[in-house]
Amino acid sequence: MTEVIDEQDGPDKARPSPAGSGSVTPNPRLADPKNLEPKHPDHARPNHERPQHGAAQHAAGAHQPEHAQPRTAGQLSRRAVLGLAVGLAASAGYLGIRQIGDDPNTGTAGPTPSSTPSTPDEAAEGVRRASLGGAVLQQLADAVGNGDRAGFLAAVDPRSTGFRDEARTVYNNLRDLPLAVFRMRYVSDDPGAIEPDRLQALGATEAWLAQVEVTWQLKDFDAKPARAILPVTMVARGSETYAASFSERFVSGQRRPIWALGELHLLDGDHSLVVSLHQNADLKAYTKLVDQAVDSVTEVWGRKWRRKTVLYLPAKQNQMEQLLGAQPNTYGQIAAVTMAELDQPQPNAPVRVVANPKLFGELGRQGRRIVLTHETTHIASNATASPVPLWLAEGFADYVAFTAVDVRTDSAAAELFKAVRAGKGPKGLPAPEMFAASSAELPIAYESSWLACRLIAETEGQAKLVQFYRAVHASKGQDGIVKAFRDVLGTTEQEFVQDWQRYLQRLAGA
Ligand SMILES: [Zn+2]
Repeated sequence: MTEVIDEQDGPDKARPSPAGSGSVTPNPRLADPKNLEPKHPDHARPNHERPQHGAAQHAAGAHQPEHAQPRTAGQLSRRAVLGLAVGLAASAGYLGIRQIGDDPNTGTAGPTPSSTPSTPDEAAEGVRRASLGGAVLQQLADAVGNGDRAGFLAAVDPRSTGFRDEARTVYNNLRDLPLAVFRMRYVSDDPGAIEPDRLQALGATEAWLAQVEVTWQLKDFDAKPARAILPVTMVARGSETYAASFSERFVSGQRRPIWALGELHLLDGDHSLVVSLHQNADLKAYTKLVDQAVDSVTEVWGRKWRRKTVLYLPAKQNQMEQLLGAQPNTYGQIAAVTMAELDQPQPNAPVRVVANPKLFGELGRQGRRIVLTHETTHIASNATASPVPLWLAEGFADYVAFTAVDVRTDSAAAELFKAVRAGKGPKGLPAPEMFAASSAELPIAYESSWLACRLIAETEGQAKLVQFYRAVHASKGQDGIVKAFRDVLGTTEQEFVQDWQRYLQRLAGA
């Protein structure tokens, strides 16, 4: 066994967080166990996120975290880095967050049906605006499809100079991305959203805010198109209508496409596409790591998946939040998130791994590889739309990651073993609420789930573990896990838990 941590090893000891650095404000929906459970078997977790070891303490709020994440590069303790690897994810809350962002009732974020027209005149006005705005969108989308830069810029307000620069960047980004599909659809508008002083600044006769559904699909990577709602300011000058902003009245908690956030730098590998907002990121190194992650996952899971991973590298924390549609500071302690780039979870959704720019930068190569292998396992196993219980989804992802990158068990399961030796070992398989970002049991939930999966692989063989996972994934009813224990492993959950408890006792030397 080799150590997982390379250059950033350190004493296995908690460090106090520097003053002011521990302000994680979890979204309450993330912390709500109800959000961890899919409402329907086919509508499950839109993402998996991985807070740092210590996120639980941060998220729990009031007291100073015991295992705070050191903030300076080169100071990560082994424990903190392993925390990334086995640390937690409040996987399911994302749907909640995104619904806040795109909920028509929360303001301008979503596809707001424009103020319900109360008179025939208002209805006719709405139709007129939709027709003018729709033509602008068509021109923008056609220009992207045809590689017509001049055509694209002809639809952009000539007097909004700042936005013209931004629009050039968006155009370049969209041309650089391997797009199979790019569409813009006028969903709704709000003529009252543009304040009088803004209208005056625009110098326009008329301006309104349209909510636009943008659909795009990455060639070779996406089975289905990604979707987002983009606010587009429309401005009328005489007989012409133009786009004058893609971010007017943008609200935090609203998801934004990566190509609207700044200049993109792209590189693809054998199985990877790295899309970076960071101009100095070592894209080659990242494609190599993602390619390795895909190979590692394929070795365990088999070849029957797309074997492609898209990695988003935001340059700043707020870009990560915008990509995810998260409130500020929610993701301060989270290394990476696997998200479906859609408003509704569904099988074969376009899934991206979104890295936390700061924490990823601080991680060593091995740590990044563990995180990327874990997240890629979620992609291969369709975990964003699966009835698989969290302990199995997260335990399996860690099983694959720790099979690819050898780690010392007593380092990777330190919290769990401490509990077991103190006679406080788990009574049962980790419940969904243990995976909430606010859960104090976050590290133990991950560590014990990982070892549950490892026990199956050690006693029944890795192929059985995969078969077990697939059986639960394919199940429709609540009893899928019961059946899988019986039919695949020839046991019951109760018996398995007893075996697992003995296994943990033995490993912990209790
Ligand atoms: Zn995960």
